Formats: sequence, structure tokens, C-alpha cells
Amino acid sequence: MEGAGGGNSLPSTSGADAVKRRVSYFYDPDVGNYYYGLGHPMKPHRIRMTHALLEKYGLLDRMKVIHPQLARDRDLCAFHTDEYVAFLQSANPETLTNPCVARRFNITDDCPVFYRLFEFCQTYTGASVDAAKELNRSNADIVINWSGGLHHAKRSEASGFCYVNDIVLAILKLLENHDRVLYVDIDIHHGDGVEEAFFTTDRVMTVSFHKFGEYFPGTGHLLDNGYGKGKYYAVNVPLNDGIDDESYHYLFKPIIAKVMEVFNPDAVVLQCGADSLSGDRLGCFNLSVKGHAECVRYLRSFNVPLMLLGGGGYTLRNVARCWCYETGVALHVEVNDKMPDHEYLGYYGPDYNIHVATSNMENKNSRKSLDDIKAKILDNLSKLQHAPSVQFQEWPTDTELDEEDENQEETNEDLNSDTDKLL
Ligand SMILES: [Zn+2]
Repeated sequence: MEGAGGGNSLPSTSGADAVKRRVSYFYDPDVGNYYYGLGHPMKPHRIRMTHALLEKYGLLDRMKVIHPQLARDRDLCAFHTDEYVAFLQSANPETLTNPCVARRFNITDDCPVFYRLFEFCQTYTGASVDAAKELNRSNADIVINWSGGLHHAKRSEASGFCYVNDIVLAILKLLENHDRVLYVDIDIHHGDGVEEAFFTTDRVMTVSFHKFGEYFPGTGHLLDNGYGKGKYYAVNVPLNDGIDDESYHYLFKPIIAKVMEVFNPDAVVLQCGADSLSGDRLGCFNLSVKGHAECVRYLRSFNVPLMLLGGGGYTLRNVARCWCYETGVALHVEVNDKMPDHEYLGYYGPDYNIHVATSNMENKNSRKSLDDIKAKILDNLSKLQHAPSVQFQEWPTDTELDEEDENQEETNEDLNSDTDKLL
């Protein structure tokens, strides 16, 4: 592994990309222990696998490692209903016997009640909210929470393996100190929960690249682009099976460049769902780790405070490969392709490399379809005024709560400085 100035560093060793960023990484060692149930594709263990790679590659030594706080009920209620939060808090597999209650909150095989579900939600959400606070205080340029990014959760309903929408809560926290927040979603699934939460505001722009057409969750049509004040502040990029790195960036880069120009965000949240990688157990795209990570590299190059979150990703070995490599991109460190020996090395055989070949599947995205999508989106974006004005009264903040937060956060910082050394 080489540092930013080393011979094997990332392609650009000068200019904005080469400027070192202060990176804070949020990780709770307990997160890998949660278990959705036998046969369920969502496995929090992948977060621990990622962490083990970061440790063995020496990347933890290059960033601030923070043990996040658990999110509190009132943190969750900033977006979710009291009733839904109370349900999650009391839910456990033994006592959930009323099918009406389960239906009301969309508790299904996809979103089961499992042992210590509420603590799981508090853990991944606490990390995202703490990451937002870190950016609010300008303590870091890039913050990372690979356990977050659960973009499908609704205000009072679970959906698509997601229960609490940590992304919405993190963005709400960022809006306390930032005028405009950009949300970009590269998970293969549409970022429906986040889009819905901010569909009518011009202070958050949501941009989702996803498979569209007979695919979960079914939303994210090209022509769905926001409502009222939020008109044109939701951007949907519907894609077809087999998209490769070249086709993906044929859209991603010009669209994001235009978004950065017209929206001019103060902070960016990037959901890095890894189910858009080639060979994902549930996905049907054909991106390489480098192609996926190019999204991180590109957004990083704008030098705007950046939050990196996880999301989907169901072929565990590829998820850990991807998020480890992307942590390297955040740090401007090119990790060696050959993996270091560690307790999960067996998952990565027979090659034990970070990068794996993509497949020869057909790319069903024709150049014409990509051109049509790009033209439509760039046209919509050109209708926006540059950098909309902010009306703070839309987002009242509770002074009393803020003061309490400050008090608690001082204590948290003390705790954090201790735990930094332990991790
Ligand atoms: Zn997904």
C-alpha cells in the first residue's frame, strides 16, 4: 500500500484529488453480531468483514476511528412516528403474535422481527447521526458509516430489510448547519425512503441511480422529479440489467457535474449500496469495484463535506472488498490488490484479491437509451435556479433539545477519545 505521494497511488497525484482529507470512521464492534435469520440475504456480518480488512490494510491508523453512540428514541422520532418507534422498541420475536400489528408496520419475511432488532436500529442510526454531527462541527472532511444507508425505511413502516431510515435522520441533522444537502444513491435499488422524505423541499436534492422495471421497490421513474417547492429536486436515473462501468459513468459524471453546478450543496451524502456490483446475490448490474468506487472518487473531487454510507450488498465477500477499497479512496490510498492474511481470508478464495473480474452478461442499456435519459435529466436540471435561497423557518429546531445535546455530546467526546484508542 502506498500513501498519496507513493509510486502506486491513485491516478491523480496533483490537483484537488491529491489534497489530504480528514476522515472519521464510525464503527460499533457489536454491529456484526445482529442476525436477520436463517437464509435472509441481509447479513450485518459484512460490516465486521469490512472492518477486519481496514484493520489489516492499516487504514484504521490513517483516520479517526469513533465508537458511535446509540441513537435515542427522540433521535428516531425526528422522522419516524412515535407509534412506530414504540413498536420497534418493544418488538421481539417471541411476543410478536398479532398479525394486524405486523401488517401495520410491514413486518414480513423481508423485514422480520429478530433478536435485539431495536438495538440494531439504534446502532446503525447512531453512527449516521454522529457522523452528521462530526461534519456539522467541521471535525472531518469525510465521514464513513458502512453499517448505515438503509434507504427504504418509511416514516411508520419497515421496507426492504430497512427499519429506521438513518439517512433521512442524518440529513435532517446536517440541515441544522448546512443550507443544502445533496443525496446520491448508487445502490441497485431506488432510494425511495429518502426521496419520499424530501420530495417537497428544495433544501435536499436526491439523485438515485437504480435498476427500474419489475424490480423492488418499483418506484424511481425518470419522470418522478419532486413536487411543489421540491419540483426538479428529485432526480431518478432508471437503468437496465448488465450496466458496466463505462455506461454507468457515461451518465453518472455529467449528471453529478450538473447537479453540483446548479444545486451547489454544502454537504453530500453518498449511499454506497454494493448490490450494484457484478455478481451480487440479488442484483443484476455489472459494475467492478473500481467502477463503483469511481463514484466516491468523483464526489470527493468536489471537496465538499462528504458522508459515505453503506446500504445493500448481498455477496458478502464483494461488499467487504468494495467498502474497503472505497475507504482507501476516501483516504487517497490505493490498497494492494493482494489481501493481507486475516481471520476472514477464506471468504476471498481462490484469488484472495480486492478486485475480481466482472461477468460477460449482456449490457441491456443501449447508447440511445442512455442518451435519452441524460438529455431529459440535464434538461430538468437546467430549469433550476442556481443555489436556491433558504427559508430556515421550514425546519424549526428545538433550542432546548440542542442545549441538552450539547451537554451530552461533551460527554460523548470524552468517551470517544477513549474508545478511539481501543478500536
Ligand atoms: Zn439495494
